[in-house]
Amino acid sequence: MRAAVLHKTGQDTLDVREDVTAVGFRRGSVRVRMRAASLCHSDLSAMNGVLPQPAPFVPGHEGAGDVVEVAEGVTGFAVGDRVVLCWMAPCGRCDHCAKDRGHLCVASLRRLGAPGFRIEEGGVIASGFYGTGAFADEVVVSANALIKIPADLPYEAAALIGCGVTTGIGAAVNTAKVEPGASVAVIGAGGVGIATVQGARVCGAGRITVVDPVASRRERALDFGATEAIAPDDLKAVAKKLPGGGFDYVFEAVGRAATVRAGYDAARRGGAVVVIGAGAQDDLAEFTMGELFFNEKRLLPSLYGGATVGRTVALVVDLWRAGRIDLDGMITHRVGLADVNEAIAQMRSGEALRTVVTMD
Ligand SMILES: [Zn+2]
Ligand SMILES: [Zn+2]
Repeated sequence: MRAAVLHKTGQDTLDVREDVTAVGFRRGSVRVRMRAASLCHSDLSAMNGVLPQPAPFVPGHEGAGDVVEVAEGVTGFAVGDRVVLCWMAPCGRCDHCAKDRGHLCVASLRRLGAPGFRIEEGGVIASGFYGTGAFADEVVVSANALIKIPADLPYEAAALIGCGVTTGIGAAVNTAKVEPGASVAVIGAGGVGIATVQGARVCGAGRITVVDPVASRRERALDFGATEAIAPDDLKAVAKKLPGGGFDYVFEAVGRAATVRAGYDAARRGGAVVVIGAGAQDDLAEFTMGELFFNEKRLLPSLYGGATVGRTVALVVDLWRAGRIDLDGMITHRVGLADVNEAIAQMRSGEALRTVVTMD
């Protein structure tokens, strides 16, 4: 079977090989024939080392496919089920899982370098990014890393739900709980930012201001429910004019300390800054104790939708079915697995909102 391998951290292209096998099929695991995977910014961050993932590995963590084999001890999945991958697989036993906060379970991250694939030439073992590795014809994952979806949900739209869309919509609905009429700013108009815009719209936000340095991305945000789109330099002035002197909610979908800081400054006193972007371990955000206390602005980090992932996915599927969110429109490019490096180039240039890689 085929898989796209990153041999060394820091390489900027993937090696699409045909001599790879998915390994690790044992009690509790499921074999999935991948159909579509979309490229998320975190894949690039793992490739360049900003996010930890021991190489060699197969990137891709936003993916959808079909169950083709179920091992002993697995309940709830059968051959033929359509599924999305969940890159933070809840163990079901820890305190977070017991308290219905499965998105905070770190059991899967402890297995970051666990074998997922074998390259026949040289017998090299590669892991799958965050326990998945969606840029492959087949993956073997723990049953906990799968979420069943309806058979009429197209694979391409389903792939988006595996990470970015669930993250963005969950941040608005679960973490911020945006109220009708609220003023919202979203910093960053990539896939997660656009999903957040859609989540804020579903919540009934009165004003949704998208902040992005790239004009074409600002324009695109208007198609998804943003009421205005501005350049970063204009954020301060726009925020100041709002009643209360700032936004009720500012979502940071970039993953940088500087934009979290800009978001904090653009939130009204008592407002909230929702931190969604996946940033680096050594990027330090600074706040004074005086301002934290006096302004009563809330810092609300939101990981993978801010609630048990399966539940957020079910919500997203319902919203899609009701026509209240646009997933198809988020797919700006499509390539086959053999051309996965094109998808990477498109994301690096900022041209693609989401490129879907198909495994046909
Ligand atoms: Zn757990
Ligand atoms: Zn992602």
